[in-house]
Amino acid sequence: MRLNNIEHIGIAVKNLESAIKYYEEVLGLKCYAIEEVADQKVKTAFFKVGETKIELLESTSPDGPIGKFIEKKGEGVHHIAFAVDDIGNSLKEVEEKGVQLIDKLPRKGAEGLNIAFLHPKSTFGVLTEFCEH
Ligand code: ZN
Repeated sequence: MRLNNIEHIGIAVKNLESAIKYYEEVLGLKCYAIEEVADQKVKTAFFKVGETKIELLESTSPDGPIGKFIEKKGEGVHHIAFAVDDIGNSLKEVEEKGVQLIDKLPRKGAEGLNIAFLHPKSTFGVLTEFCEH
């Protein structure tokens, strides 16, 4: 198991437009991509901070994962994503060590990355994403 770096931090927001405004006008970052991921029912906006990205997530439907998250917990940090070289083997390895997986197999996420989530019940409350370029 080798985590290369924190690829991005996912942040759930109610309104993408006003959140983008905060990241640009207050924090001085530049939104370089907006993308809808239909199967996750989210619209995402990306910023770069050094080698790490900020991924803002707005739900496109109240019954999507982000919609439900905001309803339960409100806006805020939703997940942390680590870059790995071999996502298939990384998933196998953590599963063998007793971690519950949300995605047994990698799927396509935003920016065309292969991604998979580990269940927060197994990760001390942090929804954890692996992603592979
Ligand atoms: Zn993510």
